[in-house]
Order: sequence, then C-alpha cells, then structure tokens
Amino acid sequence: MNKHLLLIMLGTALVNPASYATPVVAEPGSAVTQQKSAGKLVDNPFAHASKLAYQYPAFDQIKNTHYAPAFSEGMRQHGLEIVAIANNPAAPTFENTVIAMERAGQMLNRVSTVFFSLTAANTNPTLESLSRDLAPKLAAHQDQIFLNARLFQRISKLYEVRQALKLDAESQRLLERYYTDFVRAGAKLGDKDKQKLKSLNAQLASLSTKFNQNVLKETNASAIVVDSKAELQGLSEEEIASAAEAAKARGLKDKFVIPLMNTTGQPFEASLANRALRQRLHEASVNRGSHGGEFDNRQVAIDLARLRADRATLLGYANHAAYGLEDETAKTTTAVNKMLSELAPAAVNNARAEGAELQKIIDAQQGNFKLAAWDWAFYTEQLRKAKYSFDDSQLRPYFELKNVLENGVFFAATKLYGITFKERTDLPVYHPSVKVYEIFDTDGKSMALFIADMYARDTKRGGAWMNAYVEQSSLFGTKPVIANHLNIPQPPAGQPTLLTFDEVRTAFHEFGHALHGLFSNVKYPRFSGTNVPRDFVEYPSQVNEMWATWPEVLKNYAKHYQNTQVIPQSLVDKITAANKFNQGFATTEYLAASLLDQRWHQLTPAQIPKDALAFEAEALKQAGVDFAPVPPRYRSTYFSHIFGGGYSAGYYAYLWSEVLDAESVEWFKENGGLNRKNGDWFRQQLLSKGGSMDPLESFRNFRGREPKIEPLLIRRGLQKQ
Ligand SMILES: [Zn+2]
Repeated sequence: MNKHLLLIMLGTALVNPASYATPVVAEPGSAVTQQKSAGKLVDNPFAHASKLAYQYPAFDQIKNTHYAPAFSEGMRQHGLEIVAIANNPAAPTFENTVIAMERAGQMLNRVSTVFFSLTAANTNPTLESLSRDLAPKLAAHQDQIFLNARLFQRISKLYEVRQALKLDAESQRLLERYYTDFVRAGAKLGDKDKQKLKSLNAQLASLSTKFNQNVLKETNASAIVVDSKAELQGLSEEEIASAAEAAKARGLKDKFVIPLMNTTGQPFEASLANRALRQRLHEASVNRGSHGGEFDNRQVAIDLARLRADRATLLGYANHAAYGLEDETAKTTTAVNKMLSELAPAAVNNARAEGAELQKIIDAQQGNFKLAAWDWAFYTEQLRKAKYSFDDSQLRPYFELKNVLENGVFFAATKLYGITFKERTDLPVYHPSVKVYEIFDTDGKSMALFIADMYARDTKRGGAWMNAYVEQSSLFGTKPVIANHLNIPQPPAGQPTLLTFDEVRTAFHEFGHALHGLFSNVKYPRFSGTNVPRDFVEYPSQVNEMWATWPEVLKNYAKHYQNTQVIPQSLVDKITAANKFNQGFATTEYLAASLLDQRWHQLTPAQIPKDALAFEAEALKQAGVDFAPVPPRYRSTYFSHIFGGGYSAGYYAYLWSEVLDAESVEWFKENGGLNRKNGDWFRQQLLSKGGSMDPLESFRNFRGREPKIEPLLIRRGLQKQ
C-alpha cells in the first residue's frame, strides 16, 4: 500500500492529514466495470502516472473537476485490488499479499497526494467542499481494508511464520509493520465493534477536516483592520505598504490590514509601539475559534477528544495518547509526561526571570502597567537591542530569499553531501511564485526534484511544512519529488523579499525534512523518506538548522541585497550570542502547548469536559505552566497540529527529537563540521534509511552510542539545579 495514503490513514502525515479510504462495492474480477469506468476518465490527469520528468504532477492539466471522479475511481480500483488479494485462492506468500498491497492503490495515491498537498498550499472553495465530502468516504475506504477479515488472516498467517520465510531485513520489517498496522486499526475486533469503529473513524475524519477549515477561515476573518497610519508606528515603510496592499486586496479603501499568523504570538507585536493595537492584535489571535460565530471550534475540539477517547477504549487502550504513543519511539504516556513535567518548572522559572527583566524596562520608561502577553515581544526586542545591540531590521537586508535558498540552504547541502541544484523553468507550477529545482547526485546523475513554495497567501495553511509528491522506492523505481512550504509575507511589488532570521532558520529546517525524503534509499514506499515515527521525524530537520549560522555557510549567503557586502562578523557574533536569549519564553510556550495536547488526549471518555476553555485553563494550571504573559504557542481552538492534523498526542515530538538533534550537532562539531565525510556518514547511516529500520538503531549507528539529554538541556538553559 502506498505510503502517502497509509500515512494519512494512520494520521501520521506531515501535512494536512485528512483521513483516507471507501466502501468497496464491486466484487473481485469485475474487469468489465473497471474498463468501462476507467474509460470515462481518459482525459483525467490522475488516470495514469504523469508523463513529466520524475512523474512530477502535471499541474497545468489538473482542474478542480478532475478530483472527485479520480477519487471515486481510485477508491474503486484500490478496493478491487484489495479484494483480489484477500480472496486469492493461492496460499498467502509475502509476494502475493504484502508486496501486492504495497503495489495497490496507485491512482488513489496520485490523486490524494496532489489533492491534500494543494488543499494545504493553494486551496479554493471547491477543494474545501470536496475535502469535507471526501473525509468520511476515505475513512470508510481505509476501514474496508483494515477490517477485511480475510486479508488480515493472510497477513497473520505470514506473520506467524515470519522467521521461516527467510526475508531480508527490510521485507521482514514490512511484514511486521503491516501486521501491527492492521491490529492497531482494529483487525482483531469482533464484527459489532468493527461497525462501531467504522462509525467513529468516519466522524473523526469529518470533524478534523471541519476543525482545519474553521481555523483557516477564522484566521482570515480575524485580520486586524487599522484606520490610520499613525497607529502603525514602529512598523517599517515596507510593512506599512504591505498592510495597505492587504487592505486593498480586501476591498478596504484607505485602511491597513494586519493578517494573522497561525501561532498565538503575532510577528508585529514585536514592533508595534501602540500598546492598544498590540492588545487588539493579541486578543484577536488568542480568541480565534472561541468567541461564537460560524468558525467556533470549542465544541469541535471537545467532540474530537471524545471520539478519540471512545476509539481508544474500543481498541483496548487507556486513552488516545496511550494508543498513539505506543507507535512512537517514546512508547508510553509515562515517558512523555515525565519529560514534560521535568522540564516545565525550569522553563517557567526562566520565563519568569525574563519577564522580570522586561518589567524593569517598562518601569524605567514609566510605563505604569504590568507586563502582559501583548507586551512580551515588544520589550523583548528592546532588550535584545540593549543586550546585543541589533534587531531584526538590521539583519533582514542580509537575508534576501533567493540568496538564502540558493547560496545558503543549497550551498550547505552541496558542501555536506556533494549534491548540486539547477532551476527548472519548464515544469508547470500551481502558483506563479513557486520554483522548481532539479537535484543531481555526487556523480552528476539526476536524482530528484525540489519544489520551493515560499510565500504566504490567503489560500495557504499557516506555518511551514514539507511533503512529497513522489516518493523514492526501488520497488517502483521512483525518484523523489519533494516540496517545502513557508509563509514568508509577500513584499510590495518591486521590493526584494527580505527574511527575518527566524524565517531563515525555518528554510533550513524544512530543507532538513526535504533531505530526509531526497536521500531515501529504500525498497518499499511504506518506509520511504520521512515515514518514521513523529517523535523522530523532526530530528533531521532540526539538525539542518545548525548550518544557518555556520560561518562558512553564513558568509556565502548573508550578503546585503543592495551592495552584496557580507554580513559583518560583529553581527554574526551577536546572532550566535543571542541564541539562548528568550529561551524561557520559547520553551514555556512550547511546553504549554505540548501539555495541553497530552491532557486532551489522556482523557477517558468519562472525563471529557463540557467547557473547552475552562478545561484548558485548569490543565495549564495543574501543569504549572499558567504564566499569563506566556500563553501556549497554540490554544485548543486553533491547535491544528493536534485537532486538525497528524500530531494528536504528538506535539511533544519536537522536543523529543531535539534530544537527538542536540546530540548530532555535537557530533558534527566534534568531527570537523561542514564536510563531505560527515555529510556522507549522516546520509548513509541515517537519512537514507527512512523507516526501513528501527530509527533509534540508525541513530546509534550514526552516533556510536545511546542518546544523552545533556546537550539539549545546555542548549535551552534547562540544566537541573
Ligand atoms: Zn519540522
């Protein structure tokens, strides 16, 4: 079974995981029906593999009207293939059962890959409505496969004799993986419980789609309209011009619009001098989804938590988190709770100390108010200037987008891995700002395509992410087509795109995911690239962030956009020195969100609350992270990672992965840093493996020992007292 579908089904996709799957009504062998209805799809671009290089999607051929029939036919074909495998009169073999399943569902994979990528990156009302319509159908399709008793029997039989089959290591792992996937999807349940499970899955699929759509619409609807330029004091002329253009785009004359980003904190809070406007901006952000109206997500969150708790009970788990974590490298809720609760007090203490410093500035300026959440970024910027005497506006002229990407991100990859890049302008794109690059391996042979979709727009989900349009697999002979998505604000016409340092770091981060997909060297699609546990997947991407400030890399890309002068060393030193700055805040807002995620998902059905916001407040208080000036990075009603996406009970994964990341950064430093030898070792031992072996084993092979937590604690200033 192709991995994209399975990932979506299992809720582990990196991006926009709506559920997947359909009622299979056709009987096996009805080839006539298949012929006939396939005939209707003759000019549907999803009916066959794309003829473009690397099977790159023919975006210029794909129309809104192609999706629904392609999904319907794709599910039908996949259903037939699965029934044929299940009902095969021949005794089960690895080839006729497991590999056959890996090969099945190609058309469904093609359409769902493009569809779910574009509903995240460039959506429209037709896709949105189709997405709502599809969610329960795909969930049912998934159930039809995983709850097929004959199919499970075949897999069980193979699983029982797996030692005797003498499979190679990757194949044996694939068999074990299929068996586990089936069991976790409810294959061992009785018929009545299977029906219950199907109904739960369908409801969950619809609701998480609704949650995501509410977040996107509410975020657009919550943009702040400002009447006068005077109120925007503190913003640069470019930012004011962008705000004026955003207003114009919304049909507002002589006004300014500040669009919201998906996190709680909003970038302009750092520079807006007008405290009342900062407060308006902040409140609009934190109230998203919880102030009534058509996009309110309070009840949706509660319903999702209840349905997940019900499903966990049905499958024999204490709660949804226990179910989810069993499949992660963390394994148990105990392990996750232990990490979060051990780090929380130190993080909050650090945040309180940082807050006290900010209060001093407010007092020194006769501010006469108590530090509030909407003041944090503003005074932090002042403190940063005072302590390190630089601010983001000094840095940005050195971080021009094309330079950052081609002479920074790509340059580091060339130095480490010997791969080279060439822009391709002949391939169709779904939005004019999207760029495509071909990547060549050390021997000069073409190896992959990389899609860079860097700009924010109303039709794009917030945040940054990576996804694969085509995955590497030696079974299929496919090479990767990988995309990175960022949300860099579009500059006014004619102006260069200048990044903040955070955006630079994000570009390196996402390319770390891309490398995981690009260097994949596995046989089965199920194990390709980033198809590893969630609490491992953020590890390579975080490691790649280290190169953003590596002197040799920095000097190559951080050049002033007007005079091409390299960023002064004094400024570089300040960036490095400022790395530990504001870490109490960053760690606390992250831990608060992670703890919320765990609280919601460690509930039994009987414990589901009636009031989402009261539950949230109580959960933060109990965990000791209810420090008002530092709210969670996401509040429950716009926490798409956990309610709309694949990170339910898994938001802790970023910090969990960071243990391995901090360890690996140490390793690179100990071994001479940016060179081919180090890059090749990391590629060979880790990046190429995907999910084809135990991820912690590949880490040990790379590092030469078990991971230790100390490098992370030092990095974040969390050393135990
Ligand atoms: Zn990431």
